Amino acid sequence: FLANMSHEIRTPLNAIVGFSNILATPGMELDDADKEEMMETINKNNDLLLKLINDVLDLSRIESGNIIISMEPCSVNKVMEYIYQSYSVQAPKHLVFEMVRGEAGLTISADEGRIEQVLTNFLTNAAKFTPEGYIHLGWKAHHQKRQVELYVEDSGIGLTPEQQLMIFDRFYKVNEFRQGTGLGLSICKVIAAKMKGRITVQSAPDQGSRFSLWLRMSDEAE
Ligand code: ADP
Repeated sequence: FLANMSHEIRTPLNAIVGFSNILATPGMELDDADKEEMMETINKNNDLLLKLINDVLDLSRIESGNIIISMEPCSVNKVMEYIYQSYSVQAPKHLVFEMVRGEAGLTISADEGRIEQVLTNFLTNAAKFTPEGYIHLGWKAHHQKRQVELYVEDSGIGLTPEQQLMIFDRFYKVNEFRQGTGLGLSICKVIAAKMKGRITVQSAPDQGSRFSLWLRMSDEAE
């Protein structure tokens, strides 16, 4: 754990410290474009560190059984529109990011903040592993199962059936040189189970992936 963590912490930290030092060195001749590029790198690495710390904190809460999930009836439309609006600003500009709206007026029993956490994780992964094409955020009602599927679909690099079995394990990454801790999906899996739901993946190499969070429909009308 510590070996994994120290590598993941050191890499962004080195970038932050290194570029901050250059920017703060008196007499360093830098033009505005250079400065802007360095600031961007510093900000990107700040975000990475923050995500890493949040993942580790979540993991420790899960291990100690202290993760708080408050189940309440939530409107699928409302929570999905919120996620769509929030992610629209961050979605990579070279990809088409669209919402595929399912049936209106559905209510599920879940924790809104945790749904956002899981789907944002799916979206961040989709962006990371999709060199071109699209990312779709959507939902689908499965009335016979009394479940709603909230999904993120991408046209990215995809996964083999063997890799699909491994990605929910802690620290597993298909390519260990790619940025990430390999913790996100294992945390999502626990959160889904705590909301009495589950996560599924449909994927094939070079054909994209679809990550779905399945949650129970609530009997209450919206
Ligand atoms: P990480 O922080 O490394 O992204 P995750 O647990 O979220 O950790 O994901 C584990 C691994 O699953 C990733 O490193 C990647 O190899 C694979 N993966 C996740 N989402 C996708 C996707 N949409 N397309 C292809 N591979 C994916």
